[in-house]
Amino acid sequence: MREILHIQGGQCGNQIGSKFWDVVCAEHGIDATGRYCGDSDLQLERVNVYYNEATEGRFVPRAILMDLEPGPIDSIRSGPYGHFFRPDNFVFAQSGAGNNWAKGHYTEGAELMESVLDVVRRESENCDCLQGFQVCHSLGGGTGSGMGTLLMSKIKEEYPDRMLLTFSVFPSPKVSDTVVEPYNATLSVQKLVQDADECMVLDNEALYDICFRILNLNNPSFGDLNHLISSIMSGVTCCLRFPGQLNSDLRKLAVNLIPFPRVHFFMGSFAPLTSRISQRYRALTIPELTQQMWDAKNMMCAADPRRGRYLTASAVFRGKMSTKEVDDEMSKVQNKKSSEFVEWIPNNLKTSVCDIPPPGLKMASTFLVNSTSIQEMFQRLGKQFSAMFRRKAFLHWYTDEGMDEMEFTEAESNMSQLVAEYQQYQDATVGAEEDTEVADGL
Ligand code: GDP
Repeated sequence: MREILHIQGGQCGNQIGSKFWDVVCAEHGIDATGRYCGDSDLQLERVNVYYNEATEGRFVPRAILMDLEPGPIDSIRSGPYGHFFRPDNFVFAQSGAGNNWAKGHYTEGAELMESVLDVVRRESENCDCLQGFQVCHSLGGGTGSGMGTLLMSKIKEEYPDRMLLTFSVFPSPKVSDTVVEPYNATLSVQKLVQDADECMVLDNEALYDICFRILNLNNPSFGDLNHLISSIMSGVTCCLRFPGQLNSDLRKLAVNLIPFPRVHFFMGSFAPLTSRISQRYRALTIPELTQQMWDAKNMMCAADPRRGRYLTASAVFRGKMSTKEVDDEMSKVQNKKSSEFVEWIPNNLKTSVCDIPPPGLKMASTFLVNSTSIQEMFQRLGKQFSAMFRRKAFLHWYTDEGMDEMEFTEAESNMSQLVAEYQQYQDATVGAEEDTEVADGL
């Protein structure tokens, strides 16, 4: 069995991580005490990817919960899943990170790191053949962002041949009022480029817009945003959790989606979109699902794929349906949009069908894309970063923790470099190299 070790850190990471386990438990028929109460063998066939089996047939999530303040973890422990997680997998401190990446990465977080790594080592030693790690965190705060990226670099050092997937929540002023978030996020992006193998981008700006414009929620709460996040997390991990061929482990997912190592940031969409309160049993057709998932407005990242080009893409349809109809429908759309796909990666759209729909729905689909348009989001962040950094505003919070200004300069230029790389792939054509050769010859 190829196990995955899940780690959630900081307020946001712990919140979206808990929602992930809610949904995964519902899909695999596991209740809040870890007992199986499902109705299909398929639920258990690959259950060991995310759960350890304890005595008396109890399933225990292979999860580590970390934080620099006790609040978010306390609320999990006192909630319905309080006894579900292994008690010594909660690792936390009292100090807090005060939305300061430097505290998470260099001071408070660094101090707690050994205790987290002890649990990581214990869990990995218990695995038969660990395939990799997944980390849930936000980039805008101090813990998930600073400490989360510190943990990733330690994991990469100790487990260089294992895969590392992140679910990273990008900040937006529409949702948060902490001004230093672009600093924290940009410092994190540099580390994600370096240490993560694949990053699922969850952009609060886009999540807010989906809630506001599509779901008609006037004042969306984190609970509403997290409901969307949990749908896409369930969709992305569906191929890892249920039997099937496409993207059935973290490495295969990376091989299909990542043509160059640094461009490993995915955006995704989910159909049908439902709000937290109005989740009804909706019967949708395959063409409707397909139309919705390709719609730029459904993308959980504020970037419009029509303004860039698809490098690669992967779609998972869930529920009982005809594979042929799905394939036909997808190729129809891809043919229409062929100019939006780079032509130098043939067959860059993969589709699969998983029999088991998410709870409460008859059918659903998740679309995962590696699009050069994601540069729009990095540009947005870069602008917010540069506006403050030009005047060195708020820098003392970071230098007081021992950081050097150089690190900010490097993070800023690293992100511009990433944007330039996306642009270069967007502009590349099949004939580009031959053209140059001909030109040189003349
Ligand atoms: P940390 O505890 O120091 O890691 O800080 P937070 O996780 O609170 O990070 C703040 C950033 O995360 C801001 O951009 C918030 O908008 C975002 N955030 C905090 N909680 C949530 C949440 O539950 N859901 C979502 N989508 N974003 C969150």
